[in-house]
Amino acid sequence: MEAAIKEIRQAIGDDDAISTDPEDLKAHGYSEWSSTNIDGLPVAVAYPKSTMEVSKIAKICCKYRVPIIPFSGGSSLEGNFSAPYGGISVDFAYMDKILQFNPGDMDIVVQPSVSWMELNEELARRESGLFFPPDPGPTAKIGGMVGTNCSGTNAVRYGTMKDWVINLTVVLADGTIVKTKRRPRKSSAGYNLNSLFVGSEGTLGLVTEITLKLAVVPQEFSVAVVTFPSIRDAASAAAGVMRAGIQVAAMEIMDEVQMKVVNLSGLTSPRKWKEKPTLFFKFSGTKASVKENISMVSAIAKMHKGGDFEFAKDAKEQKLLWSARKESLWSMLALRKEGGEVWSTDVAVPFSRLADIIEVSKKEMDELGLFASILGHIGDGNFHESIMYDRTVEGEREKVERCVKNMVKRALDMEGTCTGEHGIGIGKKEALFMEVGPDTLGVMESIKSALDPHWIMNPGKIIDVPS
Ligand SMILES: Cc1cc2nc3c(=O)[nH]c(=O)nc-3n(C[C@H](O)[C@H](O)[C@H](O)COP(=O)(O)OP(=O)(O)OC[C@H]3O[C@@H](n4cnc5c(N)ncnc54)[C@H](O)[C@@H]3O)c2cc1C
Repeated sequence: MEAAIKEIRQAIGDDDAISTDPEDLKAHGYSEWSSTNIDGLPVAVAYPKSTMEVSKIAKICCKYRVPIIPFSGGSSLEGNFSAPYGGISVDFAYMDKILQFNPGDMDIVVQPSVSWMELNEELARRESGLFFPPDPGPTAKIGGMVGTNCSGTNAVRYGTMKDWVINLTVVLADGTIVKTKRRPRKSSAGYNLNSLFVGSEGTLGLVTEITLKLAVVPQEFSVAVVTFPSIRDAASAAAGVMRAGIQVAAMEIMDEVQMKVVNLSGLTSPRKWKEKPTLFFKFSGTKASVKENISMVSAIAKMHKGGDFEFAKDAKEQKLLWSARKESLWSMLALRKEGGEVWSTDVAVPFSRLADIIEVSKKEMDELGLFASILGHIGDGNFHESIMYDRTVEGEREKVERCVKNMVKRALDMEGTCTGEHGIGIGKKEALFMEVGPDTLGVMESIKSALDPHWIMNPGKIIDVPS
C-alpha cells in the first residue's frame, strides 16, 4: 500500500493528491449515521481532479492489488464506504463541476461530487424551469447516489435514481475508461450497463461523469399533513390514494414518536405538530390538478378516520416542513445522550402489506423497551426504522440487531426486499443472501469477478470476498 501511495503521488505530480492525515482517514472510514461501522480505516485518501487521474489511480491500485473505495457525500447508512481491507478511499471532492447543460434536451452532464441540492439550486438560479427529482440525504452527491441507487420522498411520483441516469463514464478496476450509453433518453443498444453500475455501491467501477435526465418544475405546489388514530389507518389511507391512481408528488408516513422528535428538534418552530401517526403530502401540478388532488386525497383520508388537512402557510413553511421530514434522522441523532447511537435501516414490501409489517415491527420494539421511530416513503412500500440505543449498556446493541433481523425476515416473508434504497453495504450481506439465494448471488459474483478479477473495488461490500 505504501508503494502504491508513493506511485500515485508521483503519477499525479501533486503532493495534495493523496492524504494520510488520521482525521481524513477517519472521515472516510467511519460514519456517525451509519448503522454499521468497523474497526479498520483506509490507509490513504486520494483526491483526483479528472477521469484520467482516476484511471491512473486505478491502474496503480490494480498493479499493487490495493483496495479502492469510492467516496462522494459519505451519507450512506449501511457501512457502504467503510474499509474492512484498508486500501485507498477515492474522494471526488474536486470533481464537482457541471460539464454540459442541455436545457432543450432536458439533460445535464455532471461530475460525481455535484450535490443534488446544489444542482437544484443552480438549475433554479439559471431559471431553467427544470429540476432533478431524486432526493436522498441532504448531503448526498450524484456519484454516491448512483452507487446506492437512492431515491427519497419524490420517488412515488418520479421513480428512483436508476430512472434518471442516461449515461455513465466509469473507470474500471484496471483503469480502463468506458461509457455505458450516449445522450438520447432511450437506447436499446446492447446490455443495459447503466443498470449494472447503478446500485453497485462502487464494487464494479468508479463513476466519473453522469448524464442525468431533468424534469420540469411544476407550476403549483402544496404541502399538507393529516393525522390518524393509528398507523394502520394512516397506511390504509395511503394505500387507498395509490389504488385511486392519484398522482401525489410525495406521500410520507411518520409515527407519533417521529412527530414528537420533529417537535423536540424545533426544526419547524414555532409551529408544533400533533404527535399522532401522520401522513405528509406534497401536491404538485397545475393549479387545477393540485386542487382536485387535494380534494380526492382528503376524501380518502376521511374514509380512514383521518383528521383535517393542515396546510403549510407559505413557501417558507413548505420548505421547513419538508426539511423536517428530510432531516428526521439528524433530529433523532440530536436527541442522543452520551454513549447513544441510532440504527437507521430500511426495508420495502408490496404496499398493501405495509400496515402489517409496521404494526408488528413497532410492537416488537415497544416490547423490547427501545425508543424507536417509524417513517417511510409509504407510496413505495418503503419504510425506515430509526432505533436509539446505548452502546455502553450490555446487550442493547444485540437487542437492536435482533429487531432489525426480524424486520428484514418479516419483509422477505411478505415478498419484500431487505432494502428499498439504502443498499447492502456491509450491514445487509446476510439479508441479501436470504433474499436472492445462492444462484442469484452466484450470478452477481460472476459479474463482479469478470469486471474486477482481483476484487479490489470496494471489497467486502454486497458480497463477501471469496476466501
Ligand atoms: C439524513 C439522511 C437522510 C437520508 N435519506 C435518504 C432517503 O430518503 N433516500 C435514500 O435513498 N437515501 C437516504 N439516505 C442515505 C444516503 O443519502 C444515500 O444512500 C445516498 O445515495 C448516498 O450518497 P453519498 O454521495 O453520500 O454516497 P457515499 O456515502 O459517499 O457512497 C455511497 C456508496 O456509493 C459508492 N460511491 C460513491 N461515489 C461513487 C462513485 N463516484 N462511483 C462509484 N461508486 C461510488 C461508495 O463506495 C458507497 O458504496 C439518507 C441519509 C441521511 C444521512
